[in-house]
Amino acid sequence: MAQRYVRVQSQGGQLHYGLLQPDQSVQVLDAPPWLTGQLTDLQLAADSYSILAPCAPSKIVAVGRNYGEHAAEMGGDVPQEPLLFIKPSTTIVAAGSAVLIPASSHRVDYEGELALVMGDRCVDCSLEAAQSKIWGYTIANDVTARDLQRQDGQWTRAKSFDTFCPLGPWIVRELSPGARLQTFLNNAKNPVQSAALSEMVFSPEFLVAYISQIMTLLPGDVILTGTPAGTGPLQEGDQVRVEIEGIGSLSNEVQIRPAMALPQTATAEASAER
Ligand code: MG
Repeated sequence: MAQRYVRVQSQGGQLHYGLLQPDQSVQVLDAPPWLTGQLTDLQLAADSYSILAPCAPSKIVAVGRNYGEHAAEMGGDVPQEPLLFIKPSTTIVAAGSAVLIPASSHRVDYEGELALVMGDRCVDCSLEAAQSKIWGYTIANDVTARDLQRQDGQWTRAKSFDTFCPLGPWIVRELSPGARLQTFLNNAKNPVQSAALSEMVFSPEFLVAYISQIMTLLPGDVILTGTPAGTGPLQEGDQVRVEIEGIGSLSNEVQIRPAMALPQTATAEASAER
């Protein structure tokens, strides 16, 4: 089994990066692993921490229509160049946390995606150098208010609600290019999305090189590589699970966002990090 790099919160409230062990304990690192974090003597027992998203990026850069069949179901062609947008880091929630449907949308969709985690500062990176800048891989759900996306003509509001980026549960360093991505609703046997990562129009290293020509990518930043065909709506009470072979599965429950209340996990975590 590949090493699983996690980020956790101890019962005392401290944040730690670490290595998940087979018995679910966490061997703590003294820094994020992409910033040369080293193993310490501290070990957290399986019942003594809660899992967080595995990194705390300065930004999430996402790519639209990066699988041909999904571009077609959205009523468009595959773009000539990557179609980029940004999700704020406050959209991130951990595996097992709730996705909250806001009152302003009547159509919120799941989008299972491969997420890249950057290991290095990256500016004007060549295609040849790009692969070495990717530290690892995790799973994301690019939750989208589809009605607002169509209504607004640009995507900021639709993509940016708190809880709209489940991420995790851990990072692995290696990934087979032919690995399959699948999304399941309510533990149904058949997936609602299923595609090989090799079906992407623009590859992970192409995306890193392309984005780095526009903005500086920082260690820990996240790139969402686009979703395959089969996106669809989420309802209150749904359980949505995104699986990627060789990584694992990311599962979240859907709830209605309470009026006038922000989710404590997302906001507290972000401020504790800074
Ligand atoms: Mg997407």
